[in-house]
Amino acid sequence: MTSPDTEPHSLYAAREPIFPKRIKGNFRTLKWWLMALMLGAYYLAPWIRWDRGPELPDQAILLDMAGRRFFFFMIEIWPHEFYFVAGLLIMAGLGLFLFTSAAGRVWCGYACPQTVWTDLMILVERWVEGDRNARLRLFRQKWDAEKIRKRLVKWTLWLLIGLATGGAWIFYFTDAPTLARDLVTGNAHPIAYTTLFILTATTFAFGGFFREQVCIYACPWPRIQAAMMDEDTLTIGYREWRGEPRGKPGVAGNGDCIDCKACVNVCPMGIDIRNGQQLACITCGLCIDACNEIMDKIGKPRDLIGYLALTDETRERAGQPPKSVWKHVFRPRTILYTTLWAGVGVALLVALFMRSDIDVNVSPIRNPLYVTLSDGTIRNAYDLRLRNKLGAAHDYAISVTSEADLRVRIEGTDGDTVSVPANDTLSVRMYLEAQPGSEAAQQERTEVRLWINDADGGDTRVHHDTVFHGKDN
Ligand code: SF4
Ligand code: SF4
Repeated sequence: MTSPDTEPHSLYAAREPIFPKRIKGNFRTLKWWLMALMLGAYYLAPWIRWDRGPELPDQAILLDMAGRRFFFFMIEIWPHEFYFVAGLLIMAGLGLFLFTSAAGRVWCGYACPQTVWTDLMILVERWVEGDRNARLRLFRQKWDAEKIRKRLVKWTLWLLIGLATGGAWIFYFTDAPTLARDLVTGNAHPIAYTTLFILTATTFAFGGFFREQVCIYACPWPRIQAAMMDEDTLTIGYREWRGEPRGKPGVAGNGDCIDCKACVNVCPMGIDIRNGQQLACITCGLCIDACNEIMDKIGKPRDLIGYLALTDETRERAGQPPKSVWKHVFRPRTILYTTLWAGVGVALLVALFMRSDIDVNVSPIRNPLYVTLSDGTIRNAYDLRLRNKLGAAHDYAISVTSEADLRVRIEGTDGDTVSVPANDTLSVRMYLEAQPGSEAAQQERTEVRLWINDADGGDTRVHHDTVFHGKDN
């Protein structure tokens, strides 16, 4: 017989369903506004048009995989300019470090897609099934006509949200109006349908059913954020030195907490912040709204639950006022993150505005190094790749400057000018020739600079340095 003490414990804890209660307050209002802003931007952005001329797509934000380019309003990023994307990712990372070190998990509480879509799913759930008590009752109720009807309405609305979410995502990769028409008429590419199906299903499941479990069990961010936080980081906490012992209001010796559990009932993660800082807390601020409402009702000061740092806790316990918010926000760590963030941003802006409308790539042909023509002219060959980033075809004149006298010839043309189509790359074979007996023809190496000038009257002018090989005496 096995005694109860020696029985193995299960490592699996069944999920307790959570039914967050409706709440009004400053943080809830802020979250509604942020949700409207972010969802609005996400769903509507692919439909914004931007005139780039006849040769280019008119979608303001477009990840053109076929054309291997990224369009963002007036900015166009080519594949060889991937460093811009890398720079933006570095800025996003530094921004996340900055906000986390200043105010804890603000990303999780206000801006993470998992939080925003879960909030939206809960809003729909509340609209269909009612507030916390009604939803609890429905959950415990047997599967009768009312429960089936309400569940079907809710799941249908969730599916529509999932469909809109997946649909918006694929619209970023091709012309949105065309794709929308093709999707409806069954003419879209199978990859579009597959992506749409996967994103619809994951939005439906993650936002509707998995909710807080994604944050607690699947997301790595709660585990690594501790490295960015310190004792001065503002985060949400319960002032237990003020609230305890909890109990009925007006009873001598009791603290300010009346144990109403309003803070627990509104929490989308189903936790009790009075138990201290927890991994599951996404710092959404809803428990602050709930408790402030109670404090107002019982005539006690607000912020029994509020934003505070560990250093504030020490000060408040000693009867001193907390540090000002600015002292928590502006400190060496956050200033360092801000400086790095701004530095990368400025570097990207400078690179963006200094880049040329044409790129040139020169590959000298080294086998053989040179050839001697019948009249004794020494010729070197080079492969040129010219990328015209403008929305119209342009002629470019190629010239050379060096201490020696060299002549440019372009294969397949009579002169030194090439025409590069709009938004395209042209590969040409170019020759540099030195007259028989000239200095360049006699020298083993001559440094040369190739110039590519806009031959249509524009002021675009780029250069590339290379080497001319003469006779090896
Ligand atoms: S404890 Fe408060 S701040 Fe944390 S997740 Fe719950 S409601 Fe949000
Ligand atoms: S809402 Fe405030 S008073 Fe009510 S249980 Fe939570 S901390 Fe206590």
